[in-house]
Amino acid sequence: MSKNIGLVWLKDDFRLNKNLALLEATKNHDLVVAFFLYKKKKFENQEAQRWWISKSLGEFKNKLNTFNINLEIIDTDNYKSFFEKIFYKKNFSIYWNRTYEPEYLKFDEFLSNKFKINKIRFNIFKGNILNEYDEIKKKDGAPFKVFTPFWRTAEKFYFDKIPKKNKKLSKCVKKISFFKNTINEKEIYPKKKWFKKFEEYWIPSEDNALNQLKIFINDKIENYSEARNFPNVIGTSKLSPFIKHGQLHVETIWEECIKIKKKGVNKFLAEIGWREFNHSLINHFPHMLKGNYSKKFDKFPWRKNIKFLSAWKRGLTGYPIVDAGMRELYLTGWMHNRVRMIVGSFLVKHLLINWLEGEKHFRNCLLDFNEANNVSGWQWVAGCGADAAPYFRIFNPILQGEKFDKEGEYVKKWVPELKNVPKKFVHKPWDLNDSNILKLGSDYPMPIVSHEKARAAALSAFKSI
Ligand SMILES: Cc1cc2nc3c(=O)[nH]c(=O)nc-3n(C[C@H](O)[C@H](O)[C@H](O)COP(=O)(O)OP(=O)(O)OC[C@H]3O[C@@H](n4cnc5c(N)ncnc54)[C@H](O)[C@@H]3O)c2cc1C
Repeated sequence: MSKNIGLVWLKDDFRLNKNLALLEATKNHDLVVAFFLYKKKKFENQEAQRWWISKSLGEFKNKLNTFNINLEIIDTDNYKSFFEKIFYKKNFSIYWNRTYEPEYLKFDEFLSNKFKINKIRFNIFKGNILNEYDEIKKKDGAPFKVFTPFWRTAEKFYFDKIPKKNKKLSKCVKKISFFKNTINEKEIYPKKKWFKKFEEYWIPSEDNALNQLKIFINDKIENYSEARNFPNVIGTSKLSPFIKHGQLHVETIWEECIKIKKKGVNKFLAEIGWREFNHSLINHFPHMLKGNYSKKFDKFPWRKNIKFLSAWKRGLTGYPIVDAGMRELYLTGWMHNRVRMIVGSFLVKHLLINWLEGEKHFRNCLLDFNEANNVSGWQWVAGCGADAAPYFRIFNPILQGEKFDKEGEYVKKWVPELKNVPKKFVHKPWDLNDSNILKLGSDYPMPIVSHEKARAAALSAFKSI
């Protein structure tokens, strides 16, 4: 055992299972302190996640306490200056897991050099991913740009090196403090009280994530391939916020899934595969974090229309399935994948608003926001990503609604103004013509654009590039 203190830098790693940095620190040190750096500026545009993180920190702090490990939270807008202040202490070794975003990986390099120079022992571990992002390459060494061959290779690569036994965390000798000027997790809460609603839908904890995975595998995975398309049923796992914040490691998902021989497993694991693919993309092509993956879209004639953007954000476009999705997002911090595609397509193709606006709004409202999936998801929808939907495939929000929310249950749940509208009209209330049931324009808006005209305008804009 080292006499030094073991420090563990926690980022998106609020779990005991498969937390390699934490495991290694408790194996090597009698005294361990975990810490979380709260970058206020970054979270100014990630409001919803402040709620999840605050809750997770509170819960994980209690969990680590039972292992005699303090979890300290430090408010700092500058990682570099934070670490520069601790280099001189020398009485510690430090451990953390990788976060697969170019900015973090670059910072890992910077820190590694600094720790080497200062002769401080450090260890960086694999984070929440199946394969390290640069392990999966084409035969010629180039990164994959298409999902199917990527996943075929990645799946096999992972299968061939399936992990060793899960290790258990050891209890430390006693609890100690390390940092000065720490803050309480409650200081991270968003200012607006709108997040209070989230409490009705989510309990951010590792135990809850594991339980939810178990229920999904027992009751839902069998029908996943079909049910995942229908937003009115709970046909997907709803694990995304837990995965994002590391309460659930994707290796755990893999291990639990391959134990069973049920229909739906392969499809479900392929979705985890999309997450792997997106992480590979943003690290190999980091320009896509700030703009179009496909450069030809740099000339796309986007329109600036604050009124339309605001109607979209508030769920007041007059297209029920779009409005239902946007309101689900605002109220619960999550939106069904099919509906993410529909609302995204509507913003980009019906309103001709740059996908970056949508990306920004999702970043602020999604509890599961992560750079890789959000930026890639938006560029998939917009047609400017790698392996994206072609731009000329324009979702018709009426037909999408009629196909995937036949009875209008999803729409009525989130857009209660439409609750008395017969199902025949629920996705096109403008055809109803019965002001006793719905006064269009006052109870619920008229469509802000006509589908046919918007479609034609989108196709002509696309032709121009
Ligand atoms: C415009 C747009 C933006 C998106 N932004 C995000 C985001 O910020 N964060 C995020 O996690 N996902 C994002 N997605 C992907 C997807 O919508 C969510 O991962 C999914 O809806 C989460 O619900 P679930 O956990 O029930 O998924 P399930 O269907 O149960 O899938 C299990 C897990 O697989 C991964 N996954 C599923 N679908 C996808 C996908 N299409 N792409 C990548 N990974 C996937 C997620 O980690 C998910 O939790 C976005 C999709 C679109 C179209």
